[in-house]
Amino acid sequence: MRCPFCGEKDTRVLDSRPSENKIRRRRVCDNCQKRFTTYEAVELPMLTVEKKDGSVQPFDRNKLMEGIFNAIKKRPVTAVQVQGIVDAVEERYANEMRTSVTTTEIGNFVMEQLKEIDPVAYVRFASVYQDFSDVEGFINAVSELGSDHKKEDK
Ligand SMILES: [Zn+2]
Repeated sequence: MRCPFCGEKDTRVLDSRPSENKIRRRRVCDNCQKRFTTYEAVELPMLTVEKKDGSVQPFDRNKLMEGIFNAIKKRPVTAVQVQGIVDAVEERYANEMRTSVTTTEIGNFVMEQLKEIDPVAYVRFASVYQDFSDVEGFINAVSELGSDHKKEDK
């Protein structure tokens, strides 16, 4: 990183810390001794998603968010929580250094989190994502929720 004051090519990093999706770095120039701060974007590795039919496409944050929003309609789930889920998805695979996941993996991970936030949203998401072709799968998902959430919001 070039010094913005004297143009010296090499500057030293004094301190790095994460801040939102950026890394904040304190730097010092050994030539003019001035200090400055930079914010560098953290680059997440490109994540591709393999669909059930075998086709592959880039992970689409907005698309996933849309899917979750459909599931939480009229439910007490906030946009911030939805954002949190999508962030968690991205972070998880970035931390695992994965570049490829399946829609099933993502779906299961989202479901795990929705389940804790709102059981109804969970079932709705599950019914879309898992594409319950068999009635049994759907009944299993619903019965997993226990008896205290029966026939809510139908
Ligand atoms: Zn300098």
